[in-house]
Amino acid sequence: MTADQTQPAPTQRKVNATLACPCCGEPGLLTALYPHNWHGRSGQVVSGYKEAVLCAVCDRGEEAAQDVIALVDTQGQIGPENTELFIRRAVTWVDSARGREPDYAVLADEELRWHSGEL
Ligand SMILES: [Zn+2]
Repeated sequence: MTADQTQPAPTQRKVNATLACPCCGEPGLLTALYPHNWHGRSGQVVSGYKEAVLCAVCDRGEEAAQDVIALVDTQGQIGPENTELFIRRAVTWVDSARGREPDYAVLADEELRWHSGEL
């Protein structure tokens, strides 16, 4: 095993294959795939990709997401006249999504429930 592993990018999806929201299961508005590095158990750097799904329901109220949702809500679709604005807002949203950390208390609770057979 090398000290720095790189995983290949996931196979490209079709443009219309936006993922479902992991929280509510409804179709997402936008899916972002971005590089992500983490440390393995032995401390080695592992490079891969992470995905974020923008959900018009669950992400409403989160500022960066709301800016994208509002643009889609008011415009219906992204046309050439607002492509640049959409890209700026989408990049801001991806930056915001990259900074999110999991809620470790929720994860610990779900792990306990999974081990107990509740999930
Ligand atoms: Zn949702």
